[in-house]
Amino acid sequence: VAKSGGKNRVRVFERGMREEVTAQDELVRDLRAAVPNGELRLLYQPQVDLRTGAVTGVEALARWQSPSRGLVEPAGFIPVAETSGVVDAIDDWVIGEACRQLRAWDDAGLPALGVAVNVSARRLGTGDLAVTLAAAARDAGVAPARLEIEVPEAVAAGPDAAAGIREVRALGVRVAIDDFGTGSSSLSRLQDLPLDRLKIDTTSVALLAADAAAGSLADAVIALGNSLGLQVVAEGVEQPGQLAALRALGCDTAQGHLFGSPVPADAVETLLRDGRVLPAVA
Ligand code: C2E
Ligand code: MG
Ligand code: MG
Ligand code: MG
Repeated sequence: VAKSGGKNRVRVFERGMREEVTAQDELVRDLRAAVPNGELRLLYQPQVDLRTGAVTGVEALARWQSPSRGLVEPAGFIPVAETSGVVDAIDDWVIGEACRQLRAWDDAGLPALGVAVNVSARRLGTGDLAVTLAAAARDAGVAPARLEIEVPEAVAAGPDAAAGIREVRALGVRVAIDDFGTGSSSLSRLQDLPLDRLKIDTTSVALLAADAAAGSLADAVIALGNSLGLQVVAEGVEQPGQLAALRALGCDTAQGHLFGSPVPADAVETLLRDGRVLPAVA
């Protein structure tokens, strides 16, 4: 009895695995078609200068409007895109679209914004990210200095990132370290990279008002950024108390639901036309 039970379990396990593999294959297949089919969208989240209250830029965040799956958040497709390699095509589309949108905002007479795009570890390591950024900026007629790439801390600290970062920076495109404070990068390694900004991770900001230890982590990141001559951007700012704490610590720029959630391009236009100083800061 024990033996046949064991056998059945093995079969059930195998069938479960096969179903999982099939679902994964279908996801990859649908995702591969998403770029040529025009199913990707960008939302833009405002970044606010804490001294002036002005919106100085936006972060572009991808969404997948799938005909069969509905609206898919990055957590539902970026990890699969990374393991399957589809993320290269996604990142390239994001770069092109963000540049076209900057140009459209310029043409509409809005103040010149910067745009930050997230790039995957894979895309940074492929060797032609700088070429892609240069071509996209040129095609759209925007200066490369208005573009920024966000590289997660864990990726930036890796052995293959430095060359890619230097090439991108040499173009005049800015480089930010994303989710800083979540990895365990060696400081000397980061110090050797040509960087512009550090982004304090959402989880550190979330704990800011509540937890003294988290406060001191944010404090340390801001002090580190200032000492390296980098701008510091806080992500995920939701509460006035967090904003007050960040300002007191000398944080330069903030992003989060307190100022504005990620929204479609036309809503950014409305936000900027209504006045550049946000009530949360003014
Ligand atoms: P990230 O770059 O660290 O983006 C910040 C995330 O925090 C975004 O989630 C944003 O919507 C969310 N957020 C914004 N304000 C708040 C707030 O006040 N509170 C909280 N709790 N969260 C806030 P999202 O859009 O789901 O993106 C998740 C991640 O997916 C991004 O993290 C980024 O790593 C990745 N991602 C997004 N778009 C792209 C892309 O185009 N290419 C690549 N390679 N990765 C992307
Ligand atoms: Mg989200
Ligand atoms: Mg980011
Ligand atoms: Mg982040």
